[in-house]
Amino acid sequence: MYVATTKFSIKVNGDSFGYFEGKRGLRQGDPISPLLFVLVMEYLSRVLEKMAKLPDFRYHPMCKQQGLTHLVFADDLMIFCKGQTTFVRRIMEALMHFSEVTVGSFPIRYLGLPLSPKKWNKLECNQLCQKITEKIRAVSTRHLSYAGKLHIINSILFSLQNFWGSLFILPQSVLKEVDKKCREFLWGSTTEKKKISLVAWEKLCRPKHQGGLNIKGCKIWNMAAVGKLIWHIMEKKDILWVKWVQGVYMNNTDDFMNHVPGSDCSWKYSVTKGYIQLIREAPRRDIAELVWNRVAVPKHQFILWLAVLDRLLTRIRLQEIGLGCEENQCAMCTDGLMEIANHLFSDYVWTRGVWDSIHGWIGVIVQHRGIQEDMQIIKSKHWNRLRKDILAAVYGAVIYYTWMARNNSIFQGKNVSSNFVVQQIQSVIKERLNIFRDTKRGRKCSSFIQDLYN
Ligand SMILES: [Zn+2]
Repeated sequence: MYVATTKFSIKVNGDSFGYFEGKRGLRQGDPISPLLFVLVMEYLSRVLEKMAKLPDFRYHPMCKQQGLTHLVFADDLMIFCKGQTTFVRRIMEALMHFSEVTVGSFPIRYLGLPLSPKKWNKLECNQLCQKITEKIRAVSTRHLSYAGKLHIINSILFSLQNFWGSLFILPQSVLKEVDKKCREFLWGSTTEKKKISLVAWEKLCRPKHQGGLNIKGCKIWNMAAVGKLIWHIMEKKDILWVKWVQGVYMNNTDDFMNHVPGSDCSWKYSVTKGYIQLIREAPRRDIAELVWNRVAVPKHQFILWLAVLDRLLTRIRLQEIGLGCEENQCAMCTDGLMEIANHLFSDYVWTRGVWDSIHGWIGVIVQHRGIQEDMQIIKSKHWNRLRKDILAAVYGAVIYYTWMARNNSIFQGKNVSSNFVVQQIQSVIKERLNIFRDTKRGRKCSSFIQDLYN
């Protein structure tokens, strides 16, 4: 099919300049040639269109009004621009790009995605894993809190997975791998050092009101996202690829095509809603909105969330999950009590000192029946929402700083005074409250807020 006997000549301002040989191409008259030609020229048109938008390109004076850069007629191509080297150079760049893209083999890249004439194999899909690994490597030099990592998973990593996952059904092994990478990143596992997952991945992928972190797990998200494509087909959407799928793969006698949705079905497809439908439902957690309240600092929220689930690695917890720490007694005091969450966060003398000052400061006494129960009590108060949020934020801050003080003491042998921690809590909360003081909500409990500043 390929011949190399054609010769081309370039005309500049009406004069022909030499000849060069066509090294490869289709024979004239080959039936497939017009189709391929149109396809390829469409790409060139787009490249030139993009080039014309560059600041250092000028149209040919007579083509300026129409924004005309080129004309294609049969196999003639005319390109126009203002006759100065700079602008001709732009055209050369565009042509060079065009030649790089059109010469060579698959996969060519389209919108950053490799295009392949075959079904993707695992190797090609692995590019997604690689990209995710690169992103993780790029941020892992910084010391990030759980909350910081969660943010990266939900923004950067999700946008990558969403981009690929909405276009292709990815192989299970790749989906699993991507989820694994995100999971390891969150809990701090590396190839050298394994860390345990404090909460199962499946739970993290639930929405917050079901006790999760609202992470969009790759495996299920892919299903939900591709559901959108099926939705387009069902809707017989008036776009080229849908028509093509219908023409090639489906005929109108198919049950699938004639399925009439019930009257309660919505006529919009939301990937997020599809995702929620696909994950296993868990009971609603009323206190979630307090754990993730709007006043608290994200890293406090995360530790409070772990504490509510009783997943912080106290010595008792380590024993429970069989990571046998011989020692199960509180490391902070000498009364021989076991290190359970309730001891650490309320009974322990140091923590009691913190709570006493905090109670005096906020004018509310929390009874300490257990973290979940305490949150439930805050929730049941007949207060306005912001006041509950403030109390939950203070509560979360006490949990956070107590946990940090405990870790500093055990792992670094550094002891922090409870007074210092109280000061830290007060200054963090006051700083956060500055955002709310002058809002409508803030004015509704202005005297409560004002008291915290006095
Ligand atoms: Zn103790």
